This record gives sequence, structure tokens and C-alpha cells, in this order.
Amino acid sequence: MALPPCRRYAALMATLKTFAAGFARGALDAIAPPVCPVTGEPVSEPGVLSYRAWGAVRFIDDPMCDRCGAPYARQADEGYVCGACLAIEPAFDQARAAVVYDDAVSGLILSFKHGDRTDLAPLFGRWLARAGRELVTADSLLAPVPLHWRRRIGRRFNQSGLLADALAREVGGRMGRDLLRRPRATKPMREMSADARRRNVSGAITPAPGASALIKGAHIVIVDDVFTSGATIAACARALRRAGAARIDAVTLARVVKS
Ligand SMILES: [Zn+2]
Repeated sequence: MALPPCRRYAALMATLKTFAAGFARGALDAIAPPVCPVTGEPVSEPGVLSYRAWGAVRFIDDPMCDRCGAPYARQADEGYVCGACLAIEPAFDQARAAVVYDDAVSGLILSFKHGDRTDLAPLFGRWLARAGRELVTADSLLAPVPLHWRRRIGRRFNQSGLLADALAREVGGRMGRDLLRRPRATKPMREMSADARRRNVSGAITPAPGASALIKGAHIVIVDDVFTSGATIAACARALRRAGAARIDAVTLARVVKS
């Protein structure tokens, strides 16, 4: 059936746009062919890992602690819980991380965090979706770990917000960008012990004013870049629990694993 002139025009424009986008992509690839973000080897399309990178990046799979997601080197029964979680009950229900934080990924994650490689967000969104496949549903409310306003201004964006956006694009899930606030600035925690980290973030994260109605009874998934001691995730989880969240899980891009 022949289309009316206005529809023919729209169809022609859509075809031209597709052709132009493909041409532009081809021209860009000719100038700067896509490379693997981990190894720098040429790959078929942007954001794809090379064969060698798949061997270098340590994705976290079973067996792992059912609560905190720490990988476990030996065979474990279903529902295995690690010694740390048995000693101190985690403030969250379950946490999962996509990859082990090591030399293969630390540079990538730091360059993403400091704004040089925000183009990695779609790749990281796929990693987060893989890690959170049993936790995140279309009904989950995704809550990025908040930055203090001064750090947010200095960095121009919240890397956890970008990750939560990327995860939401992969799996659905609703963005709860403003559920949490960090009204008190905390010190950088890179060199701190687990105890010092806990003290540093204790009480520093609170529900945002007016967010209680959204939080109450909701399934919330906290999203962050790196799970180190879990102190920041725990501070978020405690704030959400106090505000009445029904279930609180966490998905992070990477996890520090003690050897
Ligand atoms: Zn555990």
C-alpha cells in the first residue's frame, strides 16, 4: 500500500539518518578503529573486550558468599556464608560485584571515576547487569552512592550515578538518583583500615529530604564503583533501612578481594 506523502518523507528521512549514522561511524572507525579498553588491541566495535582481556579480567562467579558476594576459592554448598558475614551481620541483604579489583581493571575504573573514560559506561552497565542478574528487576529502585556536594562539583558528576544509569538501561530498574544524601564530607579512604572506614562514613549518609515515601517498602539496589570493606554500602543500607526500605541489595562494578 502506498504511503501518504508526509509518511514517505518521514520514512525517507529515517533511512537517510540511518545511512548517515552508519557512514559517520564508519568514518570514525577509519580514523580511530575501536580498541579493547583493557588491552588496547583492535576489536570489532567500541566497548567490546578482546579475547586476551577476557582472560585477564576476573569476573566473579560461584562459589561466593551468599550475603556479601565475596568469591570463595573452594567448592561451597548453596547458601554458603563467609566468616566475615557470620561474625558481623551485613547491613544489606545481598551484595554482588562484577569483577575482582586488580591491575587488569583498576586503571580503567579510576579513569572512569575521574572523568577521562566516561565512554566506558555502557560496558560497565553490562558488567553490572551480569553481576546483579539475580538481584535487580524492573521494579528495583537503583540508588547510586551519593557524593558530598563539594566533591560532586569538583568532579562534575557522580560516577555511581553514571553506573546506575547504565545498569538501568540494561535491565530496566527505576532510577532513585536522589534517595540518599551525604551531608557530611568524608575523608578519602584509600589507606584506611576497615574500622577507620566504618568510623569515617558512620552517619555521613542520610535519606534525602522528602525521599521517605519512595524508600518505604521498596526494594532498593545500591550502586557503586568499588566494594572495598563495604563500609560505604553499609552506611547507605543503614540509612535506607531506617527509612523503611523492605529489601536492600548492592551491586558494584568491582570488589577488593583479600588474597
Ligand atoms: Zn560474606
